[in-house]
Amino acid sequence: MKCSICGSNRAIIFQRHSGRALCWQCFVDDLVQRVKREIELYNLVRPDDRVLLAVSGGKDSLVLMELMARIISPSRLQAVTVVEGVPGYNRRDEIELCRTVAKSLGVDYAVVALKDVIGYSVSELLDLYQKSEAVEKVSPCTICGVARRRALNLYARDHGFTKVATAHTLDDEAHTYIANFLRGDLMRLVQSHPKSAVHSPKIVKRIKPLRKIYDYEIAIYAYKKGYPLQSKECPLITSTPSLRSRIRDRVIELEWLSPGTFLRIVEWLDRVIEPLVDKLNASRIELPYCEICGEPTSPGRRICRFCELLQKLRAI
Ligand code: SF4
Ligand code: ZN
Ligand code: ZN
Repeated sequence: MKCSICGSNRAIIFQRHSGRALCWQCFVDDLVQRVKREIELYNLVRPDDRVLLAVSGGKDSLVLMELMARIISPSRLQAVTVVEGVPGYNRRDEIELCRTVAKSLGVDYAVVALKDVIGYSVSELLDLYQKSEAVEKVSPCTICGVARRRALNLYARDHGFTKVATAHTLDDEAHTYIANFLRGDLMRLVQSHPKSAVHSPKIVKRIKPLRKIYDYEIAIYAYKKGYPLQSKECPLITSTPSLRSRIRDRVIELEWLSPGTFLRIVEWLDRVIEPLVDKLNASRIELPYCEICGEPTSPGRRICRFCELLQKLRAI
């Protein structure tokens, strides 16, 4: 089958949502144009921004690095991998691949240990949890997520970055939007919107440049580049089905029945929530600061989630 755009090369992908068959070159151009459009639509990267790319070494993060380096000057980008400190899971192969790809793109790359940034590795936090007799059940991934979020923000701020880009895809974004919609969590819906402000000079704004790119498109790009489609799995991965994972299993069928569903959901919710986001952004509220660590926390809280977690673990 010939490419629907150039009409001459052999097509390597059928884009179900657009109904087009594309050759490799037109497919890559299409991805770059869509990421660029998203960046421009919401002004995700300003001319004076320095962007930290949070990369795990998985296929999504390698594609993030490649596409961003085609859109933003590599001199304004840096990639970083945070190593959690989980025994038997050191991401060695993924890190080597990140290093090679970053070098080929002219993007600086750093590897940092979670412990060096926040003072604890994930395994130390889990040890504390197991000894703490904490009544509330906290999954390793919750602990890890809170700790990694803190580490990325501190690293970005300390190194003068003004944006942190993550490799969340359209599928991730659609599942998050639907989960927050079903929970009736207006605050989180607003926070997921690309225009939402951070309301504290201590928080480095997070952006998701791949939020309009499907998982299957990332997989095809990675496959053509020879990147591994599966990374080694962390031994602590939680198997308890969350609302988000249950939603994922069901809405994937909708996408197959009606291609473009994820895109329509995300674009529709973006539009519906935008006036509320604009209103909140204009309100110029400043987030309260944690009484223990001095970092920003959510409205109505005295102690941030990270310190609350440490308190539960009896670490402070
Ligand atoms: Fe952290 Fe869970 Fe991912 Fe392991 S699976 S790295 S514990 S979030
Ligand atoms: Zn073509
Ligand atoms: Zn705190």
